[in-house]
Order: sequence, then structure tokens, then C-alpha cells
Amino acid sequence: MTGIEGEGEAFTILRPAEPSAPLVFDSPHSGSVYPSDFQVLVPHAQLRQAEDMYVDALFAGVARQGAPLLAARFPRSYIDPNRGLHEFDPAVVDGDWPGPVEESRKTDLGIGLIWRKCRPDDDLYAQKLTIAEAQARIDNYWRPYHAALKALLDGAHAWFGAVWHIDCHSMPEIAGALSNEDPSNRRPEICLGDRHGATCAPDFTDAVRTILIDLGYQVAVNDPYAGVELVRAYSDPSQGRHSLQIEIRRDLYMDEDSFVKTERFSSIARDMETLAARLAEETTGRLSA
Ligand SMILES: [Zn+2]
Repeated sequence: MTGIEGEGEAFTILRPAEPSAPLVFDSPHSGSVYPSDFQVLVPHAQLRQAEDMYVDALFAGVARQGAPLLAARFPRSYIDPNRGLHEFDPAVVDGDWPGPVEESRKTDLGIGLIWRKCRPDDDLYAQKLTIAEAQARIDNYWRPYHAALKALLDGAHAWFGAVWHIDCHSMPEIAGALSNEDPSNRRPEICLGDRHGATCAPDFTDAVRTILIDLGYQVAVNDPYAGVELVRAYSDPSQGRHSLQIEIRRDLYMDEDSFVKTERFSSIARDMETLAARLAEETTGRLSA
């Protein structure tokens, strides 16, 4: 298969030897290559806590089960691929932003498309970005990532007649001050999000939930996370385009303070490969149904 524009800089794609399942996985928040123009006021470790650290590694086994894994290389604190272009926070830039601007809870909190904060009291920047700097982040990172995801989804849909997209994330054990929920709530081990039935057929969410419960996990659906832009943007269940978000609680596989993987890391990675194997069967069965 040929490369997709931006591959190697903005993202990587782990491709199966033979794409044999109508599945596409993506990991938009595990990137840790910090661009040289990303100069911030906060300590590097604090920025790294915003990463969905190691999620690309947790899901790397999906390629052995016939599905590609797209992973961002840049950090979400630089520009967040799980936000729409309309979620631009105009307070980030000096001057009138020429693109769409739609106020939302995320932009109010300073965590829109380009973040202004990574904690409520900590501004990221000493000064505002220029319009050109913000535009460059969109053109060089956000757009290539979205184009790559869309190309993988369109390719699978054209080949198989339908596609199931799994958007992979991780969440801190305890809700942070910038989350939508009550701060200090302990999260479930795994949370699935289909925007309350909008982004994939509900029985697909049920199938994933059942597989994960069989594997021994405590699973919640749409609470506390229902899914954001990446499951919304390209899904259309009536056209055979399904997207589901999965969030894994970080303390299961890493120490959130030291960033060291726990002993369970490899068994959870194996479980995610098992999930992909069972979903390959499940979705291939649905093609002929
Ligand atoms: Zn995430």
C-alpha cells in the first residue's frame, strides 16, 4: 500500500500484512513528538500528563488481526485532533481568526482545538500565537491526521462495503479539574462512547461491551465519556460507517506519576488484540448478514 500524505511527520500507520477485517483503529492522543515551536510555560511532565500515553502500543496488536492503526505523532496539547475546526478558541491568537469560531464548553475551559491551558490556573503560553502559527498547526498536523483517518475509513468502506472504526483513548483514574464530570470521581476501567447511539449501531456497542466484560473488565457506556469529534466526523451508521470510542483507565497499565508501565501492560495489550480478533469475526459476519 502506498503512503498517505503527512505519514511519518504528523502520524504513523501500522498496517496489517493483509487488510482482512473491515476495522480501522486510531489513537489520536498518544503522540509525544513535541514540535520545536511549542514553547510553553508549564513543566514538560505536566504536558505529558495530557497524553494518552502508550495507547498506540496497547493497540499495536490489531495489525496482526488484519486492521490498520493510525496514530498521531504530535501531542494533543499542541493541537487536538479530537476537536472540530469550529472549536477554535479565539483567545489563543493575536488578531481576528479568519476561520469558524463556535463557543463551547471546551473552548470556555481553554481546551478547544488549540489549548490555552492544561490546568485551570496554568496558562500554556506567555503570549498569544500569531494567526500564521495557529494556521500552520492546522495545516501541518490536524488536516493530515484527519485526511489519513478518512482515507483509511473510505478505503475499508469501499473494499468491504462497511467499516467499523475504533477511536482509542485513555483516561486518568480520577477526573481532573478540566473534565466535564465532577472532579475527583473515580472512573470505570473502560468507557465506551457512541454519542448515545448516534455514531454506531447500538448492537455493535453491545458486542464490544460483551467482549470486554468477558475479558474481565468493568465497562461503562457513554458515562463519563460519550465520544467527541473523531467518532462524530466520519460516522453514518445508516451508510455502514460506524465509529466507537474506547477509553481505558490509565492506572491499569501505567503509573500516572512516573509514566512507568505497570506489570499488567502486556496482558492488557494482549486483551486489546483479542478484542480486535473477536471484532474481526463479528464485523465480517455482519457484512454477509
Ligand atoms: Zn484521548
